Amino acid sequence: MQMSQGHTGAEAVEDPAENRARPMAEPTIRNLGRLPGISEEERIRLGPVLEQFEFRVSPYYAELIDWSDRTDPLRRMVLPSEEELASDLDFDASAEAENIRVHGVQHKYAPTVLLLVTDVCAAYCRFCFRKRFTLATSTDQHLAPPEGLEDHEKETTLDISPGLAYIAEHPEVTNVLLTGGDPLILSPRRLEGILAALREIPHVRTIRLGSKIPAFDPGRITPALIDVLARHALPNGKIYIMTHFTHSREITPLSVSKLTEMLRAGLVLNNQAPLLRGINDDPGEIARLFGSLADCGVTPYYLFHCRPTFGNDAFMLTIQEGLKIVSEARRGLSGLAKRFRYVASHASGKIEILGEMQGELVLKYHEARSPEDEARLFTWPADQPIYWPEETAEPGTPPSCRPASPGSLKGQASL
Ligand code: SF4
Repeated sequence: MQMSQGHTGAEAVEDPAENRARPMAEPTIRNLGRLPGISEEERIRLGPVLEQFEFRVSPYYAELIDWSDRTDPLRRMVLPSEEELASDLDFDASAEAENIRVHGVQHKYAPTVLLLVTDVCAAYCRFCFRKRFTLATSTDQHLAPPEGLEDHEKETTLDISPGLAYIAEHPEVTNVLLTGGDPLILSPRRLEGILAALREIPHVRTIRLGSKIPAFDPGRITPALIDVLARHALPNGKIYIMTHFTHSREITPLSVSKLTEMLRAGLVLNNQAPLLRGINDDPGEIARLFGSLADCGVTPYYLFHCRPTFGNDAFMLTIQEGLKIVSEARRGLSGLAKRFRYVASHASGKIEILGEMQGELVLKYHEARSPEDEARLFTWPADQPIYWPEETAEPGTPPSCRPASPGSLKGQASL
């Protein structure tokens, strides 16, 4: 197995002074020994996991966690577990390999291009569907563009010149999403360069940045960072921050004040989060999370059914379980708070899980890779539990949904 140099973070935060969260900011925690409530025995047990998947948490987020409580949802979010290695699932659950056009560029839906600008985040989510390059200590699972990757290259790149050329040649691209990794970990100077370059392309209107920094380390959202983002917003080409609040305990006074500052600066805030067993798989929690976000001016946008990514087995729910949670959560929410769609981000498109009717689950393509699938409705027997629509859907035919035993993914061929 080829081992990478690991994540030094050097590519991302090359000017720490610009991005400093606090005057005496503590360094990111990457050693389990710095955490209270993690026994020596647990540290030893997790050693093999850490050889394959990194651990990283910001001091801010570490303080939100009760480390002595093994069921603490925020602890489960970031603390490695041995279950991560006992998995037959794929590293590329949504077939992102099919979307890569040039180095660091994915293009799946006509109007939207993704630029993968960093593999670093303020903390690492154990369920990350891109753990192949965020958590993984090896570069073995990185996906290569058609021209291949050099030995030292990663799947992500700060060199967006191939991406800019690709976008310039595709006038149908009106939206660009900066992603990774977490693009808000980049210094304001780096972001300035990227945003200014994108603004040189007339057909690019909306620019989105997907980020969990408002939840993981809101102190990094400095006036300098907000200023750079706000200066590149146009009257008809807004800057959207796609926040990633997964649990209501992440909504703290500090994160709310940073959300408020971003809103005042004219940024548009939307939230997308996965539905995860043991973290937020409770109607009351989903209602609290989306209700609080709407109260703060953040639009609940997507709730993602957990993707069957390698090591995510323990986080997955069946679609039937997820639908029950979402339906109950919606009952207590205002119209503003229930603007989100519950979707499975499948290789063939975003499949919205609409509801149940006459013993059938009703699903619909919200976005489709193939125009033939656009808005297509299909059903699946509600009494046959499924974790994920079958991977081998052909354009023009709805994905079949193989049944699975609820409660455990082990040994299932359903994914
Ligand atoms: S913040 Fe996003 S990209 Fe980073 S580990 Fe979490 S889910 Fe993955």
